[in-house]
Amino acid sequence: MASDLQKRMFAELARKEIFEAAKQSAYEYADSALTRRVYPSDKNIRDLGRFVEDLPEEGCDGVEIVRQLHRYGSPATVASTGGRYFGLVNGGAIPTALGARWLADFWDQNSALYKTSPITATLEEVCERWLRQIFGLPPQVVAGFVSGTSTAILCGLAAGRYRVFQNQGWDINAKGFAGAPRIRVVTGRQVHGTVIKAVALLGMGVENIEWVDTDDQGRILPDRMPELDDGTILIVQAGNVNSGSFDRFEPLGTRAKAANAWVHIDGAFGLWAAGSPRLSHLTKGIEAADSWSVDGHKTLNTPYDSGIVLCRDKAALVSALQASGSYIVYGENRDGMLYTPEMSRRARAIELWASLKYLGRRGLDELVYGLHERAAQMSDELRADGFGTLNEAVFNQVLVACESDALTEKTIDYIQESGECWAGGAKWQGRSVIRISVCSWATTEQDVSRSVQAFVDARAKARRVK
Ligand SMILES: *Cc1c(COP(=O)(O)O)cnc(C)c1O
Repeated sequence: MASDLQKRMFAELARKEIFEAAKQSAYEYADSALTRRVYPSDKNIRDLGRFVEDLPEEGCDGVEIVRQLHRYGSPATVASTGGRYFGLVNGGAIPTALGARWLADFWDQNSALYKTSPITATLEEVCERWLRQIFGLPPQVVAGFVSGTSTAILCGLAAGRYRVFQNQGWDINAKGFAGAPRIRVVTGRQVHGTVIKAVALLGMGVENIEWVDTDDQGRILPDRMPELDDGTILIVQAGNVNSGSFDRFEPLGTRAKAANAWVHIDGAFGLWAAGSPRLSHLTKGIEAADSWSVDGHKTLNTPYDSGIVLCRDKAALVSALQASGSYIVYGENRDGMLYTPEMSRRARAIELWASLKYLGRRGLDELVYGLHERAAQMSDELRADGFGTLNEAVFNQVLVACESDALTEKTIDYIQESGECWAGGAKWQGRSVIRISVCSWATTEQDVSRSVQAFVDARAKARRVK
């Protein structure tokens, strides 16, 4: 006997009305995201109040729920899948990846183990191999598919922590920190905030970080590096989150290897430079590291929830992350949870696989180099219009400023208010800057020029109102 609730849901599965409503809404959204305001209007945001209510006693109709989401949710989204959103390092969504994800959502696989999802385990293994090929990493490198680079960094540093403690004859998993030998963390002053968070979460202590000075692009100055040893984790980056600059991996890697230090490269968006022969000079030498963190959901334009930790030292990664329990059946085949902190996970490798298969090597080059070309165009056009450029647009990031911090900050407000495009602010070398990240496949040359015009108009308005 089926309960009333079960009867309702079986009927909904059979009738497909909910899915049809979702499909129709999604299609409308996809079209409008290219042309609508980039940031929601004040009214759109006020309308979100409609979602704020007490948990209803009686449940609601499914089609109505989807319609409500579309009516009030869709207009209040930030249109980062379009061509004129330049905040954070966001990335759009490749249509094929969205399609693959839709199907995968119906599968609702748990990717913990091969036993719980052979299809996911198979695609994870394929992606692992493809990623090694793209980034030029050695065959023993393994991959864990996690939610994003924050988690990937945590995993890479957990593996590093395990290994450098082991080098000192200390099992950190078993013994913890009480009485532990000292280990060191060395990184550049321009490291991403999520690295600092991971250092804190792993108990290594933010105040213990040995900071290395950086140049005007945010790159570690190799001659400022302290001596390294086998109790040290060195963290470098492929793609500074503001300037897009890359550390010089060859000299740093050589020194770290000679000292048997652990090297982690945070390449959340920048590691993909390796996917374009025209940009791969930026990632030269990355193969010498021990662990790497990278996102699918930024430069590669997979939908969200796609980060990857790569690690040369499988034993260290697995030792740092492995769980046990009598009901967990590790097998001969790939068991994804060995390489991730989570146990149950959605099958995120499916969109990653679909994106890479869709692009191929040639498409990957076109995507990645295209982002660089649009960024270079943005930098050139803004300079021609009198904005000061503060970085070399080596990858996809552009930093510009007006004559004064006050004017820059006001200009940012007016850019954001315009709805024409969206860019955020940052501090760079002590100055307020406008921070532009070109990372959606959908950004065209026209989008860049139109956005530059919005910058010029916003600055003119800021000057008038001053
Ligand atoms: C975005 C980013 C992160 C954090 O990645 P999430 O996917 O947002 O967790 C870490 N480092 C760099 C350089 C980044 O750009």
